[in-house]
Amino acid sequence: MSGALDPGRLGDLRLRPIGDKVLRGERLDPDDGLALYGTSDLLGLGLLAGWVNARRNGDRVFFSANQHINPTNVCVLRNTCVFCSFARMPKEEGAYTRSLDEVYHEAAQAEGQPTSEFHIVGGLHPKLRLQYYTDMIAGLKQRHPSVHIKALTAVEIAHLARIERISERDVLQALKDAGLTSLPGGGAEVFSTAVRATIAERKLTGEEWIRVHRTAHELRIPTNCTMLYGHVETAADRIGHLTMLRALQDETGGFLTYIPLAYHPDHNQLGEEMGRVGTATTGYEDLKNIAVARLYLDNVAHIKTHWPMVTPFLSQIALAFGCDDVEGTVVYERVYHEAGAQTQMHMPYGELVRLIRGAGKRPVERNSLYQPVRERFDDTSSGPDARTRVPAPATTAPATPAPATPAPATPAPVVSARAVHAA
Ligand code: SF4
Repeated sequence: MSGALDPGRLGDLRLRPIGDKVLRGERLDPDDGLALYGTSDLLGLGLLAGWVNARRNGDRVFFSANQHINPTNVCVLRNTCVFCSFARMPKEEGAYTRSLDEVYHEAAQAEGQPTSEFHIVGGLHPKLRLQYYTDMIAGLKQRHPSVHIKALTAVEIAHLARIERISERDVLQALKDAGLTSLPGGGAEVFSTAVRATIAERKLTGEEWIRVHRTAHELRIPTNCTMLYGHVETAADRIGHLTMLRALQDETGGFLTYIPLAYHPDHNQLGEEMGRVGTATTGYEDLKNIAVARLYLDNVAHIKTHWPMVTPFLSQIALAFGCDDVEGTVVYERVYHEAGAQTQMHMPYGELVRLIRGAGKRPVERNSLYQPVRERFDDTSSGPDARTRVPAPATTAPATPAPATPAPATPAPVVSARAVHAA
């Protein structure tokens, strides 16, 4: 695809000068971004984005063997993030908070599996202190030393800094010392002040989200970045958001991947108010958000499709629209299923490989830092014996060994499927 791009053949005349810029490797400006969002020539948009992706990543598509863990769904912002289906008040039905033993018990499912990443996000619990999280991370590293830990969104970092009365930098340093590898990109939603006033009036501001990620990057903690689309935001809001992400990436280079997150309207106040219950975003919007991101975020290496939100089928098609990164095996997807996602909670390893190959692409299993773990897949069954792994790169050991915690004698209670600021 990278060899033949003729912008003069694009159906939408507004895309042609943008295609010329893309061919010359020039940065797109906000007006270009608005034209991309405004076009109805989805295939032309995909052609441009696919060309850029092929030039950058060839036919490689990255995925990870990861496991999501959500330690608590109790959140002090439960009544003000009106798009969220996950959070509960402490005494509300369905509220849960895991002990560390319960977290370790769930994480133990990684044993004998190819898991290379724990993805840990949750609510803003009023009483869970920083030590709960540092102990959790250190304990997980002690039990699973080769597994990277991607944990806590910028919102959670800012919350911990507030209740501990210390700086966000100190929170991040403590988590890193405990064994944290990277931060997920959730909690960004859309940075526009007007949008936040409508959907998340008490959540940290866009500038504060950027500040937390800048600090993480300064501490050499790489992070992901996201945007929640498909609710009340405008195309200008989206481009403003992407422009802020691009500016921070120019400054620090710390973003690993960008993930457009599709809003799901079930079981939340915003969906009811908008009369959107039972409807998700459209495939057209999902593909457009992938393609615009690939074209506009010229300094972010990877664009990820989140299959639990948009379905594996749509994610497969996204690989022809500029996407080179697919959400992983997940194991327990609670966040979007609580909001009405109809997809599986788990994607077997072999299915992910087949999904990528089915799109004519070359799968590459990666770790949290996007270092290749495996590039040959002679047997794509999901069993642990089917894989021949290259040694995992060295990871940071916990600064102080965590106290050994015996596994619970009885299985941890099954947590209800609740568990939104993920990714
Ligand atoms: S989106 Fe995050 S911060 Fe807001 S209520 Fe849900 S869990 Fe809490």
